[in-house]
Amino acid sequence: GGTVQPKSIRKLTEDVVNRIAAAEIIHRPANAVKELLENALDAGATSIRVNVKEGGLKLLQITDNGHGINRADLPLLCERYATSKLQKFEDLQSLATYGFRGEALASISYCSHLEVITKTHADSCGWKAQYDSGALKDDPRPTAANDGTVISAEDLFYNMPLRKRAFRSASDEYTRILDVVTKYAVHNPQASWVCKKAGSALPDVSTSVDSTARANIALLYTPSLAAELLEVPLTHFAPKLGASCHGWVSNANSNWARNGGWILFINNRLVESTKIKKAIHGLYTAFLAKGASPFVYLSLHIDPAKVDVNVHPTKSEVHFLHEDEIVDAVVAAVDKALAGANASRSFTVQT
Ligand code: ADP
Ligand code: MG
Repeated sequence: GGTVQPKSIRKLTEDVVNRIAAAEIIHRPANAVKELLENALDAGATSIRVNVKEGGLKLLQITDNGHGINRADLPLLCERYATSKLQKFEDLQSLATYGFRGEALASISYCSHLEVITKTHADSCGWKAQYDSGALKDDPRPTAANDGTVISAEDLFYNMPLRKRAFRSASDEYTRILDVVTKYAVHNPQASWVCKKAGSALPDVSTSVDSTARANIALLYTPSLAAELLEVPLTHFAPKLGASCHGWVSNANSNWARNGGWILFINNRLVESTKIKKAIHGLYTAFLAKGASPFVYLSLHIDPAKVDVNVHPTKSEVHFLHEDEIVDAVVAAVDKALAGANASRSFTVQT
């Protein structure tokens, strides 16, 4: 009771709702990079270049040679929940693309100055468009361009001073960006990948088209790590689990002790699964010296009908049906690869 009167309830304006959502989806520059890389892959790109200024806070620019965007779609491009990838809720069950919510570009346009240059194969010229808070600023202008899309986000979080102040070090943010690009390059060796700081002559990531996961690990991590990797051959789990795994892991004597030795893709999406990570690390603790950690790159495919990708806007931690059985099956597959390597080694020793 007392004298305090309740305030009246009002609906937030769409603009406020969208700004709050943007901040939830784009925590830091590396989140934006992941979304933009996935869009490029969804567009069928075989060349993806990332150009970064000040850890992405000044500029994030992703250039791809994918199918581009139709001129007619440019007005809707950055509107929230506008997507070319999903129509019905049921489509989520058979989703083959990374995106589905139509939230990434919208979010980025709410917290940066966003410019898009795009050209489809059928277009005779490219189109340049600028966006602010989900909306096209002016009519797109014709411009010279290669087939594909260039997305430039400048001054990320310029309108969110608190968020912006939370980033102490541009080089920290750049390291996170490199980590994301590196992992996508390992998982998508068919495409060529470049990641560099603007103005720097030497890229930090540079791979060629039609490479392999192992060759890219040699290039982007170390050749000695790649040389000791064991293949976890493509393994189909019990039919009711509707899942399979494939990957490359360091051997039981590995002294790989750097960060970033954990790469998990589920249905081609870089995700976290605390359960899988814990279980695999548990498997290695029996072998590895203290302080050493394994290098693990695993690609799981799970029947899309059994994965809940709709769990969180950042789509990072993924949950799926039969989780415990699938975790066990993944551990067994990795264990088998490690045991096989041990068996062949003791065999060599004996002869
Ligand atoms: P989503 O990927 O969930 O659909 P986004 O906001 O990431 O949502 O992208 C919105 C739409 O913009 C996509 O559905 C796609 O049609 C188009 N798009 C975004 N990036 C690209 C790109 N690099 N090349 C071609 N089309 C793109
Ligand atoms: Mg997307």
